[in-house]
Amino acid sequence: MRFSALKIIREGLTGNKGWTPHWRDPEPKSEYDAIVIGGGGHGLSTAYYLAKNHGMTNIAVLEKGYLGGGNVGRNTTIVRANYFLPGNSEFYSHSLKLWEGLEEDLNYNVMHSQRGIINLFHSDGQRDAAARRGNAMINQGDDAILLDREGVRKMLPYLDFDNARFPIYGGLYHPRGGTARHDAVAWGYARGADQRGVDLIQNCEVTGIDIENGKVTGVQTTRGAIRAKKVGMVVAGRSGQVAAMAGMRLPIESHVLQAFVTEGLKPVIDHVVTFGMGHFYISQSDKGGLVFGGDIDFYASYAQRGNLPTAEHVIEAGMTLMPMIGKAKMLRSWGGIMDMSPDGSPIIDRTHIEGLYLNTGWCYGGFKAVPASGWCMAHLMATDTPHEVAARYRLDRFETGRGLLDEEGTGSQHNLH
Ligand SMILES: Cc1cc2nc3c(=O)[nH]c(=O)nc-3n(C[C@H](O)[C@H](O)[C@H](O)COP(=O)(O)OP(=O)(O)OC[C@H]3O[C@@H](n4cnc5c(N)ncnc54)[C@H](O)[C@@H]3O)c2cc1C
Repeated sequence: MRFSALKIIREGLTGNKGWTPHWRDPEPKSEYDAIVIGGGGHGLSTAYYLAKNHGMTNIAVLEKGYLGGGNVGRNTTIVRANYFLPGNSEFYSHSLKLWEGLEEDLNYNVMHSQRGIINLFHSDGQRDAAARRGNAMINQGDDAILLDREGVRKMLPYLDFDNARFPIYGGLYHPRGGTARHDAVAWGYARGADQRGVDLIQNCEVTGIDIENGKVTGVQTTRGAIRAKKVGMVVAGRSGQVAAMAGMRLPIESHVLQAFVTEGLKPVIDHVVTFGMGHFYISQSDKGGLVFGGDIDFYASYAQRGNLPTAEHVIEAGMTLMPMIGKAKMLRSWGGIMDMSPDGSPIIDRTHIEGLYLNTGWCYGGFKAVPASGWCMAHLMATDTPHEVAARYRLDRFETGRGLLDEEGTGSQHNLH
């Protein structure tokens, strides 16, 4: 079933009876060429590109809950390519280019909206850092415009420019940045993978990884044993638990990150805006809710809900930046489990076990990475060599100390750095 304007009109006029399920609900086979553990954004995109780019179709995605029930459907939906360091720049640049063609590629409306991101700065030092970052983005082939205070005021007149502690000096504007509808991204990749023959198996928890003579031979699941010579661990916040099934201890801590949504309002925030003196980012959804978030909760946890002090901390930052949001009623909040790496950058790599691959360490920022992560993970699983744009995302960087510090680059325990 393909989507088109004609199809939507025809279905609308004939009672919407012709739509079929987006994907099949197959029974697991006893053996596949490759298994992807985890039906989040990264697992589904890995399966999609394994099939599309590498012609591997005898593969399964094993998901312990339902597709898109993890972080991919819980994030604040920001998509951007505004990284500073080589290693990250080319990866996120590649990802944004994939985003820009994603809806045509998947024949699915993921509501990718390039409404522009403005990262505010509040001091001379922050302005210099923003200028350096902007230059790095332009050198990478992406877009960046340094706005002064009046430039920001024209675009975001509702901000508190003269806040006594944190006056706004300007902002780094990334016009191609924006948002996408998070769960639609999971559904789009799931549908695309299914159409290419990938088995998407829900309610199928991996409980063990079978290894013989240093090679992976399959997995144990709540729906029986499944054999495969290649297994990808793509489980985000559960990476430590799943890798432990193969006897591995990862440099990853799992932490809660919360998101918040207000009641629906008329359009007021046209862009994605981030505060420079606290961790706060905000956009407005197409339904009108203000969608915002901030820091992780700062304790390791597997709970998909957060605590009130962090909610207060985030909302205080929002009120400092744009006091008018204090009038909005908050409707909902929820949490997701973040796979925090020590240097804030991800891992897409082989492991010391032949046929076992690892994709993790996405911290706050793995939603925008979904296309490139799947692209590079599929390349790695199919060819056994890292893709060039993910060449720095190796596990051994934590042994050698050659980290890839970017963004805050303070890992999960900011207070210890
Ligand atoms: C509140 C919040 C806000 C965020 N905001 C942004 C943002 O604005 N921009 C951005 O780029 N990123 C953001 N992120 C980060 C982003 O959502 C994640 O980095 C990314 O979604 C993680 O990859 P994933 O989609 O594959 O993870 P998930 O969707 O969590 O997928 C992992 C899957 O593995 C499954 N699984 C785990 N264990 C097993 C097992 N044993 N067997 C089978 N299946 C298993 C889980 O059930 C889950 O479905 C945010 C995250 C949160 C929580």
